[in-house]
Amino acid sequence: MTPPLLEVAGLVKHYPVRGGAVRAVDGVSFTLARGETLSLVGESGCGKSTVGRCILRLAPVTGGQISLAGKRIDDLPERHMRPLRRHMQVVFQDPFSSLNPRQRIRDVIAEPLRNFSLASGAALDARVVELLDQVGLPASAMHRLPHEFSGGQRQRIGIARALAPAPDLLVCDEAVSALDVSVKAQIVNLLLGLQERLGLALLFISHDLAIVEHLTHRVAVMYLGRIVELAPRRALFAAPRHPYTRALLSAVPLPDPTATRERTVLRGDVPSGLAPPPGCRFHTRCPAAFDRCRTEEPVPRQVATEHIVACHLDVSAGP
Ligand code: SF4
Repeated sequence: MTPPLLEVAGLVKHYPVRGGAVRAVDGVSFTLARGETLSLVGESGCGKSTVGRCILRLAPVTGGQISLAGKRIDDLPERHMRPLRRHMQVVFQDPFSSLNPRQRIRDVIAEPLRNFSLASGAALDARVVELLDQVGLPASAMHRLPHEFSGGQRQRIGIARALAPAPDLLVCDEAVSALDVSVKAQIVNLLLGLQERLGLALLFISHDLAIVEHLTHRVAVMYLGRIVELAPRRALFAAPRHPYTRALLSAVPLPDPTATRERTVLRGDVPSGLAPPPGCRFHTRCPAAFDRCRTEEPVPRQVATEHIVACHLDVSAGP
């Protein structure tokens, strides 16, 4: 059987601090197939971006395993990891924040091509033009500087740069969060088109469920370092099972402005990852918490096809 493109099993990432460790990710497991989009969602501090950083090997893991196309990568020495990096690329919220503002777009996009020795000379320029075209920008953009572009255009350039080494996996970390609503939609459509054309797998990390609903195949909802619900998009948005997912979705505006839905307002903030609550980590904010939740951690279980929930309630029949 062909292995999934990406397999994450029991991923743990703790950050040591004085007097303990911040448990940013605490046993996260999922798979991602070629051509599929999986969205990691949750409030700020839930660990979703840390999962992305671990997969990209931008942060060493504390435990668990990460495999790319069946090959374990979490424990690879950097010299063995380096040639694999071209297969997984990232698009951040602001891809230009770390770039030299005096670097022309040609060089921004050409950098990964040079780093991985994928093109040089005229072939390099031709590839840059091809990549600009793929993201809907004219060839003339290559001679310009980053500040000459709007936020949406910059994100297109960031995507072109990420696509340069022809990756199999694109990690989009809050990639559209800073954009205006109409520009967001354009970038989402661009990503969908590229995925279809190139067969890319997308790991879409976002706090914005309204956007996620438009582009994802499956959704993993994270809370305080754990996945609490993992399900196909339709199942999750039509009938969320976990109380946390229900609360998050209750805050998403409905497309019909005359329609209303009952809003669940969560009390307080996400607790510190330095000392997560015992039992179910969500029990301090959960409107349905009962005694067992305070002492016993819920084990993730399958409640429907491809639908996994970690909750003590009987959620097998849905809400
Ligand atoms: Fe709420 Fe208990 Fe379910 Fe946790 S296990 S989500 S506290 S009902």
